[in-house]
This record gives sequence, C-alpha cells and structure tokens, in this order.
Amino acid sequence: MASFYFTSLLLVIISYFAFSIINMVKKLLFFGLLLSLVLGCERKQYPVSIQTKVIHDTVVIRLPPVPLVPPTTTNPIDSLLYDVHTAGSPNFNLRKPNFVIIHHTAQDSCAQTLYTFSLMRTQRSSHYVIGRDGKLYHLVNDYLRAWHAGVSKWGGITDMNSCSIGIELDNNGKEPFSGAQINTLLLLLDTLKKTYNIPTANFIGHADIAPRRKDDPSVYFPWKLLSEKGFGLWQDSIPPSINVDSSFNAMEALRIIGYDTSDSTAAIIAFKRHFMKDESSKTLNEWDRKTLFNLYKKYL
Ligand SMILES: [Zn+2]
Repeated sequence: MASFYFTSLLLVIISYFAFSIINMVKKLLFFGLLLSLVLGCERKQYPVSIQTKVIHDTVVIRLPPVPLVPPTTTNPIDSLLYDVHTAGSPNFNLRKPNFVIIHHTAQDSCAQTLYTFSLMRTQRSSHYVIGRDGKLYHLVNDYLRAWHAGVSKWGGITDMNSCSIGIELDNNGKEPFSGAQINTLLLLLDTLKKTYNIPTANFIGHADIAPRRKDDPSVYFPWKLLSEKGFGLWQDSIPPSINVDSSFNAMEALRIIGYDTSDSTAAIIAFKRHFMKDESSKTLNEWDRKTLFNLYKKYL
C-alpha cells in the first residue's frame, strides 16, 4: 500500500515538472520566434534602399552606390562613352528652366487643348495653359521637360524643350488676347522669373524659336506690355532722324538676337511679327532696319 502511494506521488511530481518544462519550451519558442522576426527585419536588404535624413529643413536622399556598367554597342548609356574608372556623386538636383516660351493654342476652347494634351498619341504638352477667362492650368511640373517647342533653335541652343517652360494661351490666332488672360500670364511670369532667376531677354515666342514652322503667338500678343513688366526686351523709341549705316548687317543682328537665320525670310517675318506687329512683309525696309539696329544692341 505504501509503495502505491509513493508511486502515485512520484507520478504527480513528474507530471508537474513535465508540464512546467513544456510551458517553458513553448515560451522559449515564442520569444525565439519574436526575436528572429525583429532581427530578420533589421537585417533585411532591399535591392535599392533609400535612406532619408532630415537636416534642418532639407531632406537629403542618400542613394546606395549603383554599379556602373561600361557601355557597349548593345548597352549604350546616353550615348556617352564612359571610361572603366567610373565614380558617383551625391551632389546633384533637377535642372531649372532658363527660358519661357509663349504660345497660342490655335484651338477653339481651353477644354479642347486640355484634352489634346491628355492624349499620349498627340505627343504634345505644355507646362501651363491659360484660359480666355484667366484660369490657370498647371499640367507638367516646372522641373520636367514638357513637349511644346518641337524642332527649334535660339542662339546656340537646339533643344529648347530641355531648358524652357512652355505656356499655352487659349486663343485661335485670329483674335485679341483677353485682359483676364494677360493678367494671369503676367502673374505667372513674375513667379517664374523670380523662382528660376530667368533673364529678361529669355521670354520669347514659339515663332521666334521655330520661324519656319510656327506663327504663335500672333501679332495680337502684347510683347511691348510684357517688356515693360520685365519679360522680354523691346526697342527704345526711335527718333526719325536716326540713320543706320549701310554697312549694318541685318542678318548678323538677327542672329545675335537669337534667330535662326538659316532661312533669312522666315527670320525676318518672325522678327517683324514680334517687334513690329507686322507679318505681311518678307523684307526689311529702312524703318525696320532702324528698329533692328536699335534693338540688337541690347543683346550684345
Ligand atoms: Zn506653339
């Protein structure tokens, strides 16, 4: 009988310790799992990780070094021939616009233009559209390259899309621009000029940079008013008595202003449309030469 009680007591004690051990193992497994999850997250490596660090008001984005692969004929990198000794630098940002190109839409409504620019197949866009009612639409970020200039040239620049802001004015090309629209334009130009430190001479029209293809903005556009506000250059008032020397080279003057003179007639028409509100003549008369002489010196 005594051995029965002793055996029972022993079984109870063994069972108690067995349960305790099982519970302890369960707890160890739970905490082990928890610990491995935490450590696993800390060690997790992303193929391209971006760590951000806030310094005062500036967020510095640190990118991991990207292995540069020397280009081959089947792997060109921006057509540049990198040397094998490649290196990186964290010191860069997006490029700022340095020109403003003004257009008229040659369409009948703002809605029509916004729809045109929303379609990928048109391959056309601008940074801003301003309606006849003065409403301003911002379509493309200022730092990005909108497709508004097309094949164009101004001075030595042959890719105006890469350095400019494009502004489309809702206008069919055969009508005056509304006061509300021009007021909005002046406010926008003021902001752009201050934000990007755009030189006064660099506010020009689409027809100026593409004289063979384009005629916008039309002769109705108030370039003189814009120049008075600091957007674009304008000739001084010309005394009738002024004489221009016969040796004055008009084509050279147009080239110095920025016009592509490879087509001299197109360059003259563009100049007269912009600065003389005249697109009916393809030649420069004496008064035109005086105006051009007066103007080009501002670009020297
Ligand atoms: Zn245009």
